[in-house]
Amino acid sequence: MKRILVTGGAGFLGSHLCERLLDEGNDVICLDNFFTGSKSNIVHLLKNPYFELVRHDVTMPIFIEVDEIYNLACPASPIHYQYNAIKTVKTSVMGAINMLGLAKRLKAKILQASTSEVYGDPEIHPQPESYWGNVNPIGPRSCYDEGKRCAETLFVNYHDQNDVDIKIARIFNTYGPRMHPNDGRVVSNFIVQAIKNQNITVYGQGTQTRSFMYVDDLVEALIRLMNTNNGVTGPVNLGNPNEFSILELANLVLELTGSSSKISYQSLPVDDPIQRRPDITLAKKLLNGWEPRIQLRDGLIKTIEYFKDLLKNS
Ligand code: NAD
Ligand code: UDP
Repeated sequence: MKRILVTGGAGFLGSHLCERLLDEGNDVICLDNFFTGSKSNIVHLLKNPYFELVRHDVTMPIFIEVDEIYNLACPASPIHYQYNAIKTVKTSVMGAINMLGLAKRLKAKILQASTSEVYGDPEIHPQPESYWGNVNPIGPRSCYDEGKRCAETLFVNYHDQNDVDIKIARIFNTYGPRMHPNDGRVVSNFIVQAIKNQNITVYGQGTQTRSFMYVDDLVEALIRLMNTNNGVTGPVNLGNPNEFSILELANLVLELTGSSSKISYQSLPVDDPIQRRPDITLAKKLLNGWEPRIQLRDGLIKTIEYFKDLLKNS
């Protein structure tokens, strides 16, 4: 039995990862400061004797004994990460230093939840790992983008200087049950708006694109990446290469919810990337042929079910 630390474990992705790691017979420690995560995401795990919850902030060091660390702690939606930009940088950078220091002392494997945002507003399409990105270092998204880029640097430095066994996952837009209903991300926004028959807020003309991956496909990939041999460090793109315009997404959500909502066009946020699609050739090669299995339509149906239940009970 492995003892595994998941930072940000009470968040959207972290809670699914904790669940899956427990199902596979591991001892799981979930660390979270509950900034964007919530106990309701993990309350069903609390009765499992192999699950522990630690309220802690990754910007502070922690002493704990584990075999593996998944470092997910960081707000991920633009509204949340821009709420306190300095804290977002601290969480990414100091959080990485603290978790890497822990991994170094324990000789533990450590995986970083990096992001497609390291590519910024990409000039190369689709994005391979070899692309260095096009990031504005002083814009409203930079606390997140540059924080995550610096975390990648630290991971590689700890690997090269201290032989820490690192894995870097560059995660593209992922959605599913337990997304925060008010975090402003496009999938949760559109579904909540459609269920409430409110206007669907499309920013810009809705021609900007994203590639959406269902959470179960990501969790599978993260675990496969952690289990790769020592030589594999990444970065590795993890995403669904099927690309949709935001307007296509809006129309699909309208169709699947049967909503009477109308589309309302709003101004496009500053530095909003125009297009994004992962090149997942490397992931397929390194992760035993992994590729996303859940199509957008099917994943949206499951996510809509979740939000209908959530909103009914709130
Ligand atoms: P989330 O906001 O639901 O989860 C983040 C979790 O980290 C929350 O539980 C939050 O309370 C916790 N947290 C934040 N700051 C912390 C701190 N200082 N100390 C301890 N805990 C802290 O977001 P998510 O979508 O689950 O994202 C998880 C990770 O995956 C993040 O690192 C994010 O950058 C990365 N990621 C997510 C996506 C996506 O599409 N969901 C895409 C790329 C990368
Ligand atoms: N978006 C939108 N309406 C919304 C929320 C987001 O049109 O209510 C757009 C946003 O401008 C961006 C895309 O959807 O182009 C994805 O936004 P999200 O915040 O989910 O992710 P990110 O921009 O970080 O990829």
